[in-house]
Amino acid sequence: MNNSTYNRILIKLSGESLFNFDGHANVGSHLIHIVQQIRDAVQMGSQVAIVLGGGNICRGRNMVKSGAKRVTADNVGMLATIINGLIFRDILDKEQIKTKLYSAFQVGSMVSFFEPRQAIDDLERGYVVICCGGTGNPFVSTDTAASLRAIQLEVGAIFKLTNVQGVYNKDPNQHEDAVFLPQCTFDQVIADQLKVMDTEAFRHCQMFNIPIHIASFQESNIILRLINHENIGTKVSSKEE
Ligand code: UDP
Repeated sequence: MNNSTYNRILIKLSGESLFNFDGHANVGSHLIHIVQQIRDAVQMGSQVAIVLGGGNICRGRNMVKSGAKRVTADNVGMLATIINGLIFRDILDKEQIKTKLYSAFQVGSMVSFFEPRQAIDDLERGYVVICCGGTGNPFVSTDTAASLRAIQLEVGAIFKLTNVQGVYNKDPNQHEDAVFLPQCTFDQVIADQLKVMDTEAFRHCQMFNIPIHIASFQESNIILRLINHENIGTKVSSKEE
């Protein structure tokens, strides 16, 4: 690893970047590509932690629309991330990628309870650390889990891989004149309420000076390109560069 690459990263994968969960969890070509990139990144010496979302199975705020209590819906959402974790670990195992799977809350013998020092040790020994269970608390999303784990695991950057190219100055689905921002500051995304991540997640990363790269998981070789500081997607950081 040299100075122009990130040594330790945390990748936030939204549920929709994983698989349709219909009892089968078929692995699509984009997920195969993500997994291959994770393997390549580890082989090149990068330390990789992953926080998984659960939106392919359940999002709390959608579930309340069908009458569920918000706390129940969020608990189901967090359990959904555990389901994703179990399946995702198997997918990495098949590719001979060494993994450790952690949950934010106790789920018996199925998944280990998250312990940051142990997880750092795993990263240093070349394991991919998969974090699921969100934060273990309702009313936030797995973006907040990503920022907390990024701080605890002392990563150089978060890569939030999602279904959008990055950040625009306003919602591109509603405004034709929306302008794409290749970089912006935490102050700007918070002040302009650019809703690409929880505000709390931005505040955590601002406090600990951890840049967040937001990019599409469909982009080819996105993980390796971001590790090498290629300008792609949007970089949110403390200062304009
Ligand atoms: N969730 C929660 N607390 C957390 C993380 C997640 O309550 O710390 C719930 C919340 O209902 C959320 C769902 O789990 O909608 C799935 O997570 P998320 O929406 O972040 O998944 P993604 O959009 O990344 O697939």
